[in-house]
Amino acid sequence: MNEYDSNRIYDIVSKLGYKKTNLKQEADCFVLNTCHIREKATEKVYHEVGRIKKNFRNLKKPLVIISGCVAQAESHEMLKRENYIDMVIGPQSYHKIGDLILKHQRKKEKINETKFDVVKKFDELQKISNTENKISSYLTIQEGCDKFCNFCVVPYTRGPEYSRPFFQIINEAHTLVDNGAREIILLGQNVNAYSFTEGNKKYNLSSLIIELNNIKKLKRIRFTTSHPKDMTDDLINCYRDCDKLMPFLHLPIQSGSDKILQLMNRKHDKEYYLSIIEKLKKINKNIKFSSDFIIGYPGETEKDFENTTDLVKKLDFLNSYSFIFSPRPGTPAAQKKVNSLPENKERLKKLQDILESIQIKNNKIYLQKNCSVLVENKFKDNQEYFGRTEFMTPVKFESDNCKIGDILNVQITSFNKKGLFGFHKFKKEKAA
Ligand code: SF4
Repeated sequence: MNEYDSNRIYDIVSKLGYKKTNLKQEADCFVLNTCHIREKATEKVYHEVGRIKKNFRNLKKPLVIISGCVAQAESHEMLKRENYIDMVIGPQSYHKIGDLILKHQRKKEKINETKFDVVKKFDELQKISNTENKISSYLTIQEGCDKFCNFCVVPYTRGPEYSRPFFQIINEAHTLVDNGAREIILLGQNVNAYSFTEGNKKYNLSSLIIELNNIKKLKRIRFTTSHPKDMTDDLINCYRDCDKLMPFLHLPIQSGSDKILQLMNRKHDKEYYLSIIEKLKKINKNIKFSSDFIIGYPGETEKDFENTTDLVKKLDFLNSYSFIFSPRPGTPAAQKKVNSLPENKERLKKLQDILESIQIKNNKIYLQKNCSVLVENKFKDNQEYFGRTEFMTPVKFESDNCKIGDILNVQITSFNKKGLFGFHKFKKEKAA
């Protein structure tokens, strides 16, 4: 979501004449768009500001703006602690960044803008065209969360659930497709909680997918991140009825132990999660899943951990994320006693080894077979391309007749734990 937000921030500041630069010494404004999910996020921001300060020691001071969830969580504390920071802007206020820069230039005073003004944000953003032109483009449809998992900062930094108006999203999707997008990834902290009512008509995530499925030039649709409790039947049916919806779902479970799921306040148990997986497999036999796992959550025993590894083996998760629990200030879990570190490291290693072996097993299946790849980029200076399979696995391949944005059958000749390698058939025919 920060990638989407950063692009929108750029769309706004470019109206003031700002342009992106890779030469940091040339920049006269830095926007650090921050994420609060990772460990030590706040300290990392101060370190980065320290680096800017050092680089500009003998130069004119650039404007330094901290946006995103760290700005929201720390608010005026940041301005107090680091005088080099000029402005903090929360994730629901970044639509004001242009006006705030002008205000700062006029008044030369520090600015703290961290109100939850999400409705206004999207109303304002829709007035500025989305200039993103990637083959695979993100599109935010929903923000915030009302679930309050005990480990998570999102409900505090992004605020309560908000769903954008249905037709605002569809219009933005058309803009992205006109810009060149062939895949759209619908985004939300709790994306499948999307719900918007206009008059008598209620729209949910399935309504959006069905509408996007009709956009001719769009080839693939995905959405992330989902909560198991919001996997409703109408959404599950999209995996049967919408050919552009990719048969790959990121559905975090976090732990395979019901005791831990309850301690996390996840609002579902393992049985419920498995029942959703079963329904999806019945609807679409090709579907595969990925998940998130938190290891060493306070109270996790060896038995709880084994329940997690058993579940992973049973469901063959691909491309999954796993982390050792680390407390986020202000969340209920931050008050709990943390498990010892060496034990957590061992468990994480064991889990990641299992996930890796599943990934390798899966990648091996494609060897000497064709797989469907959406071409996203060409590597510089050679005839190699990058794309992804329907299951998000990265593919690097050679071709001498391929267009960015095409969906091709790529013959896979080798693999590693991260991805696949091969060639586009045309090259072989020509060579022969
Ligand atoms: S559902 Fe997701 S975003 Fe919401 S509190 Fe839980 S982990 Fe955080």
